[in-house]
Amino acid sequence: MRPRALSALALGLVLLVTGCGEAGKSPEKAAAPPSASASPSPTPTPVTKPSPTHTTPAKPKLRPVPKKLPAGLHRASGSNGVALTFDDGPDPRYTPQILAQLRAAQVKATFCVVGKQAKRYPELVARIVREGHQLCNHSWHHDVNLGRRSAAEIRSDLERTNEAIHAAAPKAPITWFRQPGGRWTAEEVAIAKQMGLRPLHWSVDPQDWDHPPAKTIIKRVKGATRHGSVVLMHDAGGDRAQTMAACRHLIPDLKRRFGIALPR
Ligand SMILES: [Zn+2]
Repeated sequence: MRPRALSALALGLVLLVTGCGEAGKSPEKAAAPPSASASPSPTPTPVTKPSPTHTTPAKPKLRPVPKKLPAGLHRASGSNGVALTFDDGPDPRYTPQILAQLRAAQVKATFCVVGKQAKRYPELVARIVREGHQLCNHSWHHDVNLGRRSAAEIRSDLERTNEAIHAAAPKAPITWFRQPGGRWTAEEVAIAKQMGLRPLHWSVDPQDWDHPPAKTIIKRVKGATRHGSVVLMHDAGGDRAQTMAACRHLIPDLKRRFGIALPR
């Protein structure tokens, strides 16, 4: 392999490791926006590209992501029941499927919606609310670095996302905020709280964004879930057929064993 190809590969590996391996046990996919390619690893820079990859000009300085998750995150449901959370939507293919499953099981869940998606699919946001589920702000365009930006940028991103949600569902309570990729900073937690958004993390991550088969998602969730767990899954951001299939088993199973409750 040519040296440049090797360095591109190495860069890809470094990005993969830093994107997915920090800020908690197993953060959700950190690299891709919800509508991006489903591939879990960044595409290496083509070897024929003339300019080096690391000279992007005028990049604003980002504060570092802390090695440990900051204090004040909600990582438990606050009751004996298990909290189900679905991130990155709404999505016209999958959100209605999950809503139908939740309705059939007569349970409620929390949807961590991306502002751009809420703007694009307001009727789905309205339906989430109408069917009694909870809303969580998941940033405007799934910015995994949002917590590292200036206070003004963080605040305006969260406000813009709240506005898109409220345009779809006026007066709907937006109870939570969840940082994409789980890359929280203490500054961001403080701003979310000032805005009345409670910071919601998770305790069970089956890594469904990486497209494991449904039976693997089921095994991971069943193996890790306890009373009071917060389970992270995705109803958008790529092919979620395996998540949909897993949920057909998991929702009734978790309801029977633990109860399913909204986080509080
Ligand atoms: Zn996400």
